[in-house]
Amino acid sequence: MSFDSFTDYIRFAYDNSPAVREKFAGAGLKPADVQSVEDLPRLPVTRKTELSKRQQEAPPFGGFLAVPMASVQRVFASPGPIYDPQGDGEDYWRWGEALTAAGFESGDIVQNTFSYHLTPAGFMFDSALRSIGCTVVPAGVGNTELQAQIMRDLRVTGYVGVPSFLYTLVKKAEEQGFVSELLLRRAWITAERLPEELRALLREKYGISVFQGYGTADTGCVAYECLETKGLHLPRGVVVEIVDPHSGEPVPDGETGEIVITLMVQTYPLLRLASGDLSAFVLEPCPCGRPGKRLAGVLGRAAAGVKVRGLFLYPHQVSELASEFPAVRALRAVVTQRDFRDELTLEVELAREVADPPPELTAAIALRARDLLRLKAQVLFVPPETVGEALVVDKR
Ligand SMILES: [Zn+2]
Repeated sequence: MSFDSFTDYIRFAYDNSPAVREKFAGAGLKPADVQSVEDLPRLPVTRKTELSKRQQEAPPFGGFLAVPMASVQRVFASPGPIYDPQGDGEDYWRWGEALTAAGFESGDIVQNTFSYHLTPAGFMFDSALRSIGCTVVPAGVGNTELQAQIMRDLRVTGYVGVPSFLYTLVKKAEEQGFVSELLLRRAWITAERLPEELRALLREKYGISVFQGYGTADTGCVAYECLETKGLHLPRGVVVEIVDPHSGEPVPDGETGEIVITLMVQTYPLLRLASGDLSAFVLEPCPCGRPGKRLAGVLGRAAAGVKVRGLFLYPHQVSELASEFPAVRALRAVVTQRDFRDELTLEVELAREVADPPPELTAAIALRARDLLRLKAQVLFVPPETVGEALVVDKR
């Protein structure tokens, strides 16, 4: 069960979860001090390392479980290890809302290629699909050839899993000469980056519409695309914050920060769980009419960020900057310090066919860096093969 009122949720979590009481006590707060979502930043975030440590000290759920053990239906083990309870309810992780928004409906036959053991993804989507009237083929991972055949034989209309495996299955069907017999029209993917080129290829060449969502093993559904695919909507029952990964304070709307999730459910009321993933809020209304802010997808990992003059700099921002200049083959940000002051240098490798840096390029890159990174940077042209894998290099 989820809560309609935020204050009811806080009261319930405080009364029933020892770990929640400890987090309040640690911050010197009482439930009356956290009356609304805006008050949440008064509590510290819960890192996955802290969750894992709490679970080792107070097995199995670190004091977060707020219901009797007898009402826990399944327990999963994610890397960490972190143990996750499945509570009551036919769609405990609430993905039904996400799948419906992507057009899955009663009568669909859906091949669920997430694993059904240890980690919860298989059961998460199995229960969500059945709750909206779909028929599930519990395929799990692997067995490419058999899975392609199943897809044809059972007249499967929907796919749930990671995008790379979907592509593998379609290619396998093509190789075996029966791709035109497939009835697969809709796919729902998560847990892996969805390249837009792959989404376009699947739609244009194979007639498969692909939608994505974001969630974690501990919290289930956190955000999902609608048919417009212009950012990820937030579902009922979770509060999502975008915060500065170091301070835990919310960043201004629209800026990049870490996704922090508060799960408003009875079984396992996780409070301010820091995901380690980066995103930003999209503020413009969605053409579909669903209200509220959306997430801009996962933009990277918070741990990859480096603080320069008080601002975070992330690899995805550097690659975005590079992508705007066709004359640039590669670009990396190098952070140094002089007289105790941070300095940022953008090392730029030119594309092979460009012999000399165009005269206006230095100024143009520096100007865009000020917009995109909000940092003043020096631009330095470097020989080929200087820029390696790391797009942000901290030499302080
Ligand atoms: Zn929408």
